[in-house]
Amino acid sequence: MRLSRAFLPTLKETPAEAQIVSHRLMLRAGLIRQTAAGIYAWLPMGWRVLRNVTQIVREEQDRAGAQEVLMPTIQSAELWRQSGRYDDYGEEMLRIKDRGDREILYGPTNEEMITDIFKSYARSYRDLPRNLYHIQWKFRDERRPRFGVMRGREFLMKDAYSFDLTAEAAQHSYRQMFVAYLRTFARMGLKAIPMQADTGPIGGNLSHEFIILAETGESQVFLHKDLLQFDALAEAPNYNADLKPITDFWLSRYAATDEKHDVAAWDAIPEADRVSARGIEVGHIFYFGTKYTAAMGVSVPGPDGANVTPEMGSYGIGVSRLVAALIEANHDEAGIIWPDAVAPWKAAILNLKQGDAATDAMCEAMLAGLPDQAVYDDRAERAGVKFADADLLGFPWQAIIGPRGAAAGRVELKRRATGERHELSVEDALARIRA
Ligand code: ATP
Ligand code: MG
Repeated sequence: MRLSRAFLPTLKETPAEAQIVSHRLMLRAGLIRQTAAGIYAWLPMGWRVLRNVTQIVREEQDRAGAQEVLMPTIQSAELWRQSGRYDDYGEEMLRIKDRGDREILYGPTNEEMITDIFKSYARSYRDLPRNLYHIQWKFRDERRPRFGVMRGREFLMKDAYSFDLTAEAAQHSYRQMFVAYLRTFARMGLKAIPMQADTGPIGGNLSHEFIILAETGESQVFLHKDLLQFDALAEAPNYNADLKPITDFWLSRYAATDEKHDVAAWDAIPEADRVSARGIEVGHIFYFGTKYTAAMGVSVPGPDGANVTPEMGSYGIGVSRLVAALIEANHDEAGIIWPDAVAPWKAAILNLKQGDAATDAMCEAMLAGLPDQAVYDDRAERAGVKFADADLLGFPWQAIIGPRGAAAGRVELKRRATGERHELSVEDALARIRA
């Protein structure tokens, strides 16, 4: 991608409306553009990051055995009357009428729709267990949309729904998602801590929120300090095996978004081991049994012929919120520092003397060696502007090339995260970036 032709609009001034660093940087680096309150267009760089985040979420859901579908954003009010939630959901639901005066809505979540789909096809216990997910835009008419895509009104969510024959099997499905979430966030370089949570309007009995610690987070969190030291799951586990040993590690140490959740457990932690901090909720999982399947009349013959009402769970990840959370966790005064796993492009190639034949040729060689992985700053700008923009946009590597280096066959390769610099041949620089 040549910067001279790219649509990567940066802002010099800090936008006054942005209160937290991720929102400021997303606007300044041209990732998003607000089009209405809490509603954003994703510009090329933001969209590439969102796609990378989405892809990691997808791979880990698939690995855990969930199957991807795509349900619509628009749902019928009728479906929500079946569960009783149409009236309960309140003002966050965007209710619309079509030309025939029929009530429809922009989905804030999909429990009803997936239950209805499952009901249409489930014939017996052999159709269990199943876990279906989609990655789709949601709309919630938040009272106070703020912090950019952190709390938007339209936002991208991954939501998965499990169906099981027994409560015990449903808990295994819950653990599969619990572990898949640890993996998903770890792959993005994030430390997300599962915390006991309230089930809220989704209802049910077992629930955890996955929280990334950040000063600007909206959730107050309380946890045992051991949980901060633990590195989650470099290797993917066998999802068919017993996952209790993994989940029990997390569940045996106190972590909650509200200290009153379990006063006795919190009080039992030695004072020196208690951590209270703020965090960002990036995922939320629920086991709620037969709440929806019973309300919507789903039942299948079990192995002994008697009818069974399937047990359900639902599992959300705030995919668009994650982009903001990633920036909260990875930035400095100069700008964004993308973790390699989600970076929109791996490298920026900075041409310090546009028009110098050797410099141009070396930049072109670098670009050719990194198809779709590099941004080439070929603009007629001062070196200082190029350095500042590369730091702001946050690509993991900067390949800095000027006439002196080009004459010596050397690229100056800078690592954005550490500021470390090495002089390398084009071949070695390419190898380093690709690794
Ligand atoms: P919150 O407490 O932040 O309002 P929630 O508990 O209402 O979120 P869930 O129903 O659990 O949200 O949705 C699953 C995930 O979707 C959340 O964990 C969060 O990461 C994300 N999410 C929820 N609301 C928003 C929003 N308004 N903007 C961006 N992401 C959101
Ligand atoms: Mg939640």
